[in-house]
Amino acid sequence: MTAYTGDFASNGRLINIVFFFFFNINFFLYVYISAGRDKRFVAYEQFGDRRDDLASARTFFYEDEMKCDKNMKFFLDCIDAAGESSEDGFAAIKLTALGRPQMLLQLSECLTSIRKLFVKIAGTEGDLIERKVTKETFQAQLEKMGIMARDKSDTWFTLIDYNKDGVIDLLDWDRLMQADLKMSKLFRIPNMVTGEMESLLLTLTEDEDRQMKKMIMRMNTLAERAKEKNVRLMIDAEQSYFQPAISRLAMELMRKFNKTRPVIFNTYQCYLKDAYDNITVDMSYSRNENFYFGAKLVRGAYLDQERKRAWEIGYSDPCCESYEATNQNYMMVLDTVLRQIKQYGKINIMVASHNEDTIKFTVQRMNDLCIGRRDQLVYFGQLLGMCDQITYPLGQAGYGVYKYVPYGPVEEVLPYLSRRACENRDLMKGVGKESRLLYDELKRRVKTGNFFYTPFGYRK
Ligand SMILES: Cc1cc2nc3c(=O)[nH]c(=O)nc-3n(C[C@H](O)[C@H](O)[C@H](O)COP(=O)(O)OP(=O)(O)OC[C@H]3O[C@@H](n4cnc5c(N)ncnc54)[C@H](O)[C@@H]3O)c2cc1C
Repeated sequence: MTAYTGDFASNGRLINIVFFFFFNINFFLYVYISAGRDKRFVAYEQFGDRRDDLASARTFFYEDEMKCDKNMKFFLDCIDAAGESSEDGFAAIKLTALGRPQMLLQLSECLTSIRKLFVKIAGTEGDLIERKVTKETFQAQLEKMGIMARDKSDTWFTLIDYNKDGVIDLLDWDRLMQADLKMSKLFRIPNMVTGEMESLLLTLTEDEDRQMKKMIMRMNTLAERAKEKNVRLMIDAEQSYFQPAISRLAMELMRKFNKTRPVIFNTYQCYLKDAYDNITVDMSYSRNENFYFGAKLVRGAYLDQERKRAWEIGYSDPCCESYEATNQNYMMVLDTVLRQIKQYGKINIMVASHNEDTIKFTVQRMNDLCIGRRDQLVYFGQLLGMCDQITYPLGQAGYGVYKYVPYGPVEEVLPYLSRRACENRDLMKGVGKESRLLYDELKRRVKTGNFFYTPFGYRK
């Protein structure tokens, strides 16, 4: 597996899909705003430098469209390199390198608002994907919120209830964004602060519109190349305020490119409180629409930065409150995905972690569920130079295991690597253990006089 710059590190249809969705939002998205804008999705000057409090992930800055084209070329080289070095490689990309991050913020705010409104109507009981809204509840809630009178919401319910089963679930609801324009006109919500009817949360200037199109075209070019080179393309997860948009765009790519095999993988950060909801909803989309689902599961690299921003700006921390809570979330997500792999197939995951307990748990659950290590459904990923004591035994035992390889111009990769080596306490925890293990092995070989060792899988 190769990842660009040291980091975790004819497009017509995709553009149509995404733009249909985007333009429609542009036209008609009258979202629920209870207290003005969501602070999480506003750009703040003091957090403009996304390298602050961050060592474990490469950060890209928007300079101009030419720089984004240049980044895309690096990613293309990276995909070619992964394709040439193995038959089943991965490459990883970051969307903030491919367009103006401000676009991702705006889109994220829209998507989050739409989901918040669903939760407001459907309530908070049970798994998000299992919640159903009956016509009676729908009408009562809209009336209670002052959105529209019962007699008017009847038509609305019928339009949203896509599969006509008499209830609305999240999958129906998300189709709002691809729905008919006329219906949207009904969807005007009062702003509780100003008392005015709010509209058009997301408006794009001509320039922004062009930038968004170009970003989607770049993503599409990369996905096409990955498909052509038989490389799986992972979309890295970034800061939580970009994630709703990144995930949504990754899902659009999956819809287009994962019809016959998993080419596109999205990333889920399990330190985020909503990780379980997000991945279960996305798996439901893939099952309903019959495309392959690809996911990389990580704990998350931006913890300090997330906490600081939430605290200083004054919104609730999107991350789990403790390391233990993150672990619990990770295990819950992982276990659910493994069970769905067993049940439905058509799902591939990469367990991207250096945590030995997580690896052991995965191996154990694969055994319990009879998911074969060579079935090419579950992969493991670690960073090059880290946790070799986990990677090599997994590989020798026949599991699909990959190293994330820093890739890119030396002048960018080296400073990034040295920063990470100096600053990242989480990643460096394993290094002491690794040196101890190497030392023990050296002692063993000296003692037994057995200086050369060929791993089992390599013996003739
Ligand atoms: C192959 C690979 C790809 C990756 N890709 C991405 C990516 O796309 N996006 C991304 O964000 N990260 C990515 N990461 C980094 C990953 O998210 C973790 O930061 C890193 O792997 C450490 O987590 P761990 O599971 O390996 O180990 P552990 O040491 O068990 O976990 C450390 C992690 O636990 C969490 N944590 C620690 N303390 C607390 C606390 N007090 N409260 C809540 N949570 C806490 C943090 O997420 C921290 O990074 C990737 C890692 C690998 C190996």
